[in-house]
Amino acid sequence: MFKIGCHLSISDGYLAAAKQASALGANTFQYFSRNPRGGSARKVDEKDITAFNEYLKENNFGKIVAHAPYTLNACSAEPRTRVFARECMQGDLETMRNFDGFYYNFHPGSHTALTADEGIGLITAQLNAILSTDYNTTVLLETMSGKGSELGYSFEQLKTIIDGVENNKNLGVLLDTCHIYSAGYDIVNDLDGTLEKFDSVVGIERLKAIHVNDSMTPFDSRKDRHEKLGKGTIGLDAIARIINHDSLKDLVFILETPNELDGYKYEIELLKSLRNDK
Ligand code: FE
Ligand code: FE
Ligand code: ZN
Repeated sequence: MFKIGCHLSISDGYLAAAKQASALGANTFQYFSRNPRGGSARKVDEKDITAFNEYLKENNFGKIVAHAPYTLNACSAEPRTRVFARECMQGDLETMRNFDGFYYNFHPGSHTALTADEGIGLITAQLNAILSTDYNTTVLLETMSGKGSELGYSFEQLKTIIDGVENNKNLGVLLDTCHIYSAGYDIVNDLDGTLEKFDSVVGIERLKAIHVNDSMTPFDSRKDRHEKLGKGTIGLDAIARIINHDSLKDLVFILETPNELDGYKYEIELLKSLRNDK
């Protein structure tokens, strides 16, 4: 089954978002666990959560992705920011006990005034502190473009973080097509080679979900500018190969392209039409 969806707002509740996903032709979606640039958590509405969980089952949804706020930075030089990162992630994972094995995706972090190695050490330490408790959610490190002092743009960095976490059985990776192309992994001309590299460095079984985005910027640009499918430097042929690749086709695909709802609906239909197993 092709698991395809897009980023949606849960401002009207979880159930409303799931119904909106269905209306767009999706069978999964991504939402921000909190205000993406702030941090306050939403109130838990038990009724909404119960109805949402039932709706997902009845409609055969794939795993849902919660995206941590952009302000979450486990490796900031600023101690207060690191405390927020820990409390935010812990709080989100507690809330997500209400759900059945969702994904929680986060940007590994930007090392700001620290060195990259110090940054990786702080990310690893935070994950060790949090994942010493077992959650029913799989935590995903998102592959980044490497803009600024962003970490997680190389498979080696992701591997170092994962290996540093003692209880890493529920730790995985979310691959963002725009980001890795910008980070210098040529998924347009050498998708097989890139995935073989991922497998040999990280292990392909760690890969759980894909952000399927085109890119406004050239290969290896170290920028992070998402583009509509087929309008960017990655292009539709490469995207068709990605959604049909044997190592990827059963993962969860989420669109984060610059679109309103009608644009997402169009791209979901487009991706379905490009699937070999329709
Ligand atoms: Fe992201
Ligand atoms: Fe992304
Ligand atoms: Zn991005």
